[in-house]
Amino acid sequence: MRAVALRSPGQVTVLEDWPEPTGGPEDVVVAVRGVGVCGSDLSVVRGHRRVPRMPWVLGHEAMGEVIAVGGSVADRHVGQRVVIEPNYACLNCPRCRVGATATCSRRRIPGMSEPGLLAERIAVPARFSWPVPADWCDDDVICIEPLAVAMSAVARSGATSGQQALVIGAGAQGLLVVLALLRVGVEPYVVDPQPGRMALAGELGGHDGDALDAPEGFRLIFETAGVPAALELAMAKALPDAHLALIGQCMTPVPLSTFELVRRRLTLQGCLIYDHPEGFAATIAAVKSENLEPGRVVRAHFSMNQAAQAFRAAAAAPGKSCITLTEGQNT
Ligand SMILES: [Zn+2]
Ligand SMILES: [Zn+2]
Repeated sequence: MRAVALRSPGQVTVLEDWPEPTGGPEDVVVAVRGVGVCGSDLSVVRGHRRVPRMPWVLGHEAMGEVIAVGGSVADRHVGQRVVIEPNYACLNCPRCRVGATATCSRRRIPGMSEPGLLAERIAVPARFSWPVPADWCDDDVICIEPLAVAMSAVARSGATSGQQALVIGAGAQGLLVVLALLRVGVEPYVVDPQPGRMALAGELGGHDGDALDAPEGFRLIFETAGVPAALELAMAKALPDAHLALIGQCMTPVPLSTFELVRRRLTLQGCLIYDHPEGFAATIAAVKSENLEPGRVVRAHFSMNQAAQAFRAAAAAPGKSCITLTEGQNT
């Protein structure tokens, strides 16, 4: 079968003869229909985030249809439409037992610590495959995972209706934070150097954080850009008692003044993904009941053969890019 893999840093290729997955008794096998491209995939492609071996199958934001069910799986069935929760926590360690599965030290991450989901068929632990209604469009389903990241960050920030928030970075993750803020009644102001991304943020209901009438400072700030300058900006825009939620990741150390942090009583919070099962359960419930349509952030579709192009373009393109897998795809 076919799979999209990294051969060496920067070299994305389609493998024609990747082995079929063999699901265990607790797994389902899924025919993949669509995979979203995410910032962490781009760091793998660029070689900034090391993977165990090459060629390395990419991707983690996947959805598709169950085509086989392991012997011990009673609550999934063939034909079911599912989205994958691509963080397989062990559910057994002390962190998992208190519900903080995002910090599980044995967490397996397809596309990062084990082969990714950008393949025609994949085997996934059944409990990490979430059934979704058959009539949801593929783009909405693909965006459930990054929306879960955004919704968890917003929930942990203690955001309440009537507040204003600054969102730094209007990449796909920043845009989904905008949607996650709007749904709880928070007014998002967005900053991003790229006009195309700002236009998209405006379309989704975000205000221009650089406009003359934008607030000077904020009590709630979401950093999604993952560059050192973004944290500097977050600190500059923070009002006393502000909560700074950090979603973007960057290996470069940044100078931070404890004088500033203490004097203004700032809270810095690292927001790593979501916990199992609440993160996906809450996100799917919200998409179901609130007409969120997170797929609105998807702005480009590529076929499997265009995957290299998709990964090249994703860094600069406004919105999320997705790779669509269709049966018998040759182009
Ligand atoms: Zn992602
Ligand atoms: Zn664990």
